[in-house]
Amino acid sequence: MIRRIDLRGRLAAGETLDYRTLVPRAPVDVEAALDAVRPICDDVRHRGLAAVRELTLRFDGVELRDVRVPQDAIDQALAGLDGRVRTALEESIRRARLVHGDQRRQDVTTTVVPGGTVTERWIPVQRVGLYVPGGLAVYPSSVVMNVVPAQVAGVDSLAVASPPQKHFGGLPHPTILAACALLGVTEVYAVGGAQALAMFAYGLSNDAVGDDGVRVRPVDLVTGPGNVYVAAAKRLLRGVVGIDAEAGPTEIAVLADDTADAGHVAADLISQAEHDPLAASVLVTDSDALADAVTAELDLRTKTTKHDERVRTALSGEQSGIVLVDDLEQGLAVVDAYAAEHLEIQTRDAATVASRVRNAGAVFVGPWSPVSLGDYAAGSNHVLPTGGSARHTSGLSVQTFLRGVHVVHYDQEALKNVADDVRALADAEDLPAHGEAITARFEGDGR
Ligand code: NAD
Repeated sequence: MIRRIDLRGRLAAGETLDYRTLVPRAPVDVEAALDAVRPICDDVRHRGLAAVRELTLRFDGVELRDVRVPQDAIDQALAGLDGRVRTALEESIRRARLVHGDQRRQDVTTTVVPGGTVTERWIPVQRVGLYVPGGLAVYPSSVVMNVVPAQVAGVDSLAVASPPQKHFGGLPHPTILAACALLGVTEVYAVGGAQALAMFAYGLSNDAVGDDGVRVRPVDLVTGPGNVYVAAAKRLLRGVVGIDAEAGPTEIAVLADDTADAGHVAADLISQAEHDPLAASVLVTDSDALADAVTAELDLRTKTTKHDERVRTALSGEQSGIVLVDDLEQGLAVVDAYAAEHLEIQTRDAATVASRVRNAGAVFVGPWSPVSLGDYAAGSNHVLPTGGSARHTSGLSVQTFLRGVHVVHYDQEALKNVADDVRALADAEDLPAHGEAITARFEGDGR
């Protein structure tokens, strides 16, 4: 069911291979979903809460009672949380705090000349909207992945939005609410998809909502993973609001040689395929035998996996495939061109191979570091760039929630010493008023 792309022998035959066009990609991409989300975002912008209610009924099948989740519902969700899940969430939070705590930045002051300094101050974004998916699956783990770095960065005000669930009284899934409670998040909205992102970007003003008192303050930055519509809404709203990466439908690429365990590789490919029919699972290998064994394992395991239909659709889609390469050298070129959200290295001397990877959202090294460890409990962040955007964008981190602001402080002497250079460059750019702003300060003192 999974297709093969055979690149072997083509370089030797003198072909020039453009790997970016040869790797599997989803036919329904973010660009295509823009048409669907544009009217949604416009509607929320112009009609506020009324639009949010209608869109929620259309897409989630829920008549919204409360847009903002009442605090007692959040408290009750924590009280009702299964003990085993609570322990696991607490461990996930602890590990994420360890890793993200080490990402904190120090302000740095550089003395450029005596009396002239530039300080880079790292200032947290003031208010953020964190998206937690909840369509085909629900993602309490994404609460942890969003909230921990925002809190470590020192964000003042953070709000979470997640789709309302028909079977839970129109509230987000109780485990999502419980995760919010564990992290001390109190501002939670039962809104999903593009309408949630538009609500965060534009806010819901009192005027737009009539007189029931609901009001959502716009945020400065939206982060979090989601399906292709969420990713498209981020692309559309970028500029109105800051965004993190386009963290859309999940991708896994596995670079493997004949030392890899076919059962493990197949299990990992399926683990990401169960997220979404649009999820991508790609194996890149120089071993025919491994390709055959993984194909057989995929057939076998798909029969018994819970979300078999979703997995089958994802694995047989154009976005998934087994790419056969001449050797690991070519394999590295292919995975760099693909720039997967998650890249596993299952080869001999995996750490050395991994150290040569240029493009990936996150890299998982060796047989004991599967992607599902990173999804929940490695300490790393699971909100990662998709669709090839790992070539230029990082996953979510403390850095996402900080802005580096240069603070410039020169005294009179330091400015005087560089005045001629500033004036020369201002004249070269034909912007003489820039030079005059310097001259004005020294008129009458002989310069
Ligand atoms: P979701 O919350 O992302 O999406 C549900 C929402 O999609 C609904 O509330 C609805 O508003 C909207 N929607 C559904 N059909 C629509 C349509 N036809 N037009 C417009 N809007 C529509 O939940 P999900 O669907 O379960 O998807 C979760 C996604 O998050 C998966 O694709 C998964 O792979 C991805 N994910 C990505 C990362 C990452 O970091 N890249 C991490 C975790 C999860």
